[in-house]
Amino acid sequence: MIENSKPLSFEHDAAAVAVVPREKANFVVPYSDASGQTALREISSRHVDQPALGNTAEGFERFSGDDMFTLYPRLKAAHDGEGALEKANVANSTRASRWIRESRPGFDLRDRQLSAAAGGTLMYGVRPGQGLLSWTRLAVPTPAELGVPAYSASPSEAASTVKDAARLYGAALAGIAPMNELFVNRHVDGKAVVFEEVEVPEVTNERLVIPRRMRWVVVLAIPVNVDLLARAPSAVADAGCGLTHSQLAFTVSTLSEFIRGLGYQAIPSVNETAQFVPFAMDAGLGELGRMNKLVTPEFGSAVRLCTVFTDLPMACDKPIEFGLVDRCRHCKACAKACPAGALSFEDEPSFQVRGPWNNAGHEAWFEDSYRCFEYWQASGTACAVCVTVCPFTKGEPARMTRVIRAGDECIVSSTGRAPDRPWWVEDLPSDKPSADGRDETQALGRDLPRGLSAALPK
Ligand code: SF4
Ligand code: SF4
Repeated sequence: MIENSKPLSFEHDAAAVAVVPREKANFVVPYSDASGQTALREISSRHVDQPALGNTAEGFERFSGDDMFTLYPRLKAAHDGEGALEKANVANSTRASRWIRESRPGFDLRDRQLSAAAGGTLMYGVRPGQGLLSWTRLAVPTPAELGVPAYSASPSEAASTVKDAARLYGAALAGIAPMNELFVNRHVDGKAVVFEEVEVPEVTNERLVIPRRMRWVVVLAIPVNVDLLARAPSAVADAGCGLTHSQLAFTVSTLSEFIRGLGYQAIPSVNETAQFVPFAMDAGLGELGRMNKLVTPEFGSAVRLCTVFTDLPMACDKPIEFGLVDRCRHCKACAKACPAGALSFEDEPSFQVRGPWNNAGHEAWFEDSYRCFEYWQASGTACAVCVTVCPFTKGEPARMTRVIRAGDECIVSSTGRAPDRPWWVEDLPSDKPSADGRDETQALGRDLPRGLSAALPK
């Protein structure tokens, strides 16, 4: 809930924010009132029984994780004809090589490879039930092997233990939600995901079996480097997203091993087995905003989520509310900044989905993911402009502290965009016209839905 005109104080640093009990946490964000006046306000989060937005209703069904990877190619083929995506991929790859040769700022060789190494190292090397994401023990000794009984503690102590370990392994935010089978995808990696009355998880060529006794979900958030994100859309900004995805794999893998070492089952998941946003809301990590993404009070939407399912009994957290939905009603900064026009400008959220990428049966400001992906294709990046402009996205609370102490109200409205700011220590080469002098932006825009060409990275 927004509390108006309180004295401004912000003494904690980024690390401290993550461990403040959430019912006592206060945050300072820029806040625009209905007349457009902007000022820094203190907000506090409070526990609620249900999130303000995103609760499931009649018609909500389990999503298919496989659709996340196949939907865009199918829609592209239906929209632009068979082979259109393949043709676009070849063109993108040719263009990417040329931009490297031209040392285009944000897309030169080191920018590209910064991104490729950050994301490719772990993000693409993991599959559900395999490697780091194994559903069974990798190497940790069991209590039985050590000749001791399994860990035993009250549910609240067990929750605190697991959250402490999660923070050590790299999570900035950690919460516990009850298992909700509706939020677990019904298909992933070409396999059916099923719940059964079995003792241990099972992974076969056809099925991923989750024991029904795994009734607790540890939900973790790792912040994305907003200094990189501010350069969106560029390969440098992509490095921030890719790196966090790689870190997710490490964090869920180590936390799962820790839980197994206590004598319990653990199933890690990074980007495929479940819908993380509703789990994160139930675990009290944040609320659902106009971007149709999770927004946390601490890091805004600049986080990536992952989960561990377990049968270790723990005290569950409650959802929180910090006034986001009210703010989103008139803020619309993300929708205004979206270069693809993919985000909703409606004043009120609704149950009306925008396409098969949305899961019906809950209320939200639904996005047009097809337009979003078209822009990703055309720009050769994963964009994230909406994330950077949200006033809750503030990767460096300490900077805001300095601003407040200087009495200079509201010169920080969000992490902000700085697409042309060099990231490497020395200056990047200045932008050059393309070799043949063409207006590349317009050339690219020919294949885009109307209105998108003007939005391509300059
Ligand atoms: S990622 Fe970019 S294109 Fe997609 S919704 Fe956000 S701002 Fe729009
Ligand atoms: S930028 Fe979007 S998600 Fe963030 S507060 Fe504004 S409307 Fe909500």
